[in-house]
Amino acid sequence: MTSGRTINTATFLGIPPFPIAAREALADSQLRGNLRHATHTIRTKRARVAAELDDWEQLRVAAADIKDDVLGNMGHYLEQLEESLTRAGASVHWARDGAEANRIVIDIARRHRVEEVVKVKSMATGEIGLNAALEEAGISVWETDLAELIVQLGNDLPSHILVPAIHRNRSEVREIFLREMGKVGMPAEADLSDEPAELAGAARRHLREKFLRAKVAVSGANFAVADTGTLVVVESEGNGRMCLTLPEVLISVVGIEKIVPTWTDLEVFLQLLPRSATGERMNPYTSTWTGVTVGDGPQEVHVVLLDNGRTKVLADEVGRQALRCIRCSACLNVCPVYERVGGHAYGSIYPGPIGSILTPMLRGVGTDEATDALPFASSLCGACYEVCPVLINIPEVLVHLREKVVDSHRGGVPGTLQAAMTGASWTLGASRRLALLQRVAGLSGRLLGRRGLIGRMPPPLSRWTDARDVPAPPRESFRGWWARTDGDRKNAGPPPHTPRKGGEQV
Ligand code: SF4
Repeated sequence: MTSGRTINTATFLGIPPFPIAAREALADSQLRGNLRHATHTIRTKRARVAAELDDWEQLRVAAADIKDDVLGNMGHYLEQLEESLTRAGASVHWARDGAEANRIVIDIARRHRVEEVVKVKSMATGEIGLNAALEEAGISVWETDLAELIVQLGNDLPSHILVPAIHRNRSEVREIFLREMGKVGMPAEADLSDEPAELAGAARRHLREKFLRAKVAVSGANFAVADTGTLVVVESEGNGRMCLTLPEVLISVVGIEKIVPTWTDLEVFLQLLPRSATGERMNPYTSTWTGVTVGDGPQEVHVVLLDNGRTKVLADEVGRQALRCIRCSACLNVCPVYERVGGHAYGSIYPGPIGSILTPMLRGVGTDEATDALPFASSLCGACYEVCPVLINIPEVLVHLREKVVDSHRGGVPGTLQAAMTGASWTLGASRRLALLQRVAGLSGRLLGRRGLIGRMPPPLSRWTDARDVPAPPRESFRGWWARTDGDRKNAGPPPHTPRKGGEQV
């Protein structure tokens, strides 16, 4: 039974482009304080536990290699995964885009005549706006991850991949719980304090009745092992374990890039992910399930394999490395831009450095102003690349996408820089063309220059001379002087110079 109340279906639609949203966020000192505290705590822990492993760098290389193998042989691994899942009793569905994936989930829920589902934290379902689609279909969605619950109850938007409520401090969380929990289920105690243990206790009691009641659960997956058809969810609170075991029906929406070939490959990622994400040596809960096990857990298991732009990313030779991402958030926690503006300014479920490359590639460069602003939301300092456990060269992809954004906006007409470079290449390509240009430049220098300087030039060069003078070209070039004097063997003296102000020579 649902409460009948329309729950949070807030979306990123309508958030202004990054430069505007970032300026607004920068004015919020409370937000900056919350973010600074949280990101610095996590990144310090990450650095400490990563340093404990002598083979950390080898693990990163191995992880990148495994993912590249999957990306290079996607067709083969997808077929293998489908076969393994089917053999294990799961039903496999293919979704080209978010709308198709949402329809599949809604149809399954309707078939079971449920009015609500419980949900494990999942980026893929956030990406496709599943909550809003389910709500529209009259099915309530209960987020069960603590941070997702805070976001949902607060009618808010997630601002971090791993800690979606990172922008909230504990007294804000207490207020949200006191105000909202009673409207959708078990209320928080009136004397609730802002102690983390008390807040977690209130969330546990509130969620427990939903876990025990729900017939259908929705999850994502951190990994999908192709040769056995095993899905893996790692988490810290145990809420995921409840969703994955108690309901009768489980629907998992899985991005096609989540594949790892074997359990041996999975082992590499289970070392890298917790250390990079929360600074822990291993996740408190690592749940794995392989289709249906009779008498144990959900007896109907569906897996929705989601493309939603991923094959487009795969076709981009520079950008495809973004599909290695294991959503650890390490790049967010070290990013100086993210630390100051938070996640909402990125206008997407994927904020920070990975969001700046993944969102434009999934949506498509040139889609809208907000999408095209994202590759520029970076200082290119490279801190993200240094911590990324799967060696995604985010700065390289950012520069690549900036180029694509610029190209997409000039509609085939070359920009000033490109026109200048094409002209320079043509001139320097033949000695006589260069000599001719030098003669013309020397002549124009004599006509336009005053005391060795040119004060005004026509557009577009006027953008330079509006603020400063340009040294006039010498009356005779070096090559001209050489030809005239045979390299001074005719003792003709040095080439004539044009004196600058103050006697400096050019
Ligand atoms: S890009 Fe790298 S560091 Fe950032 S979330 Fe993905 S795996 Fe983690």
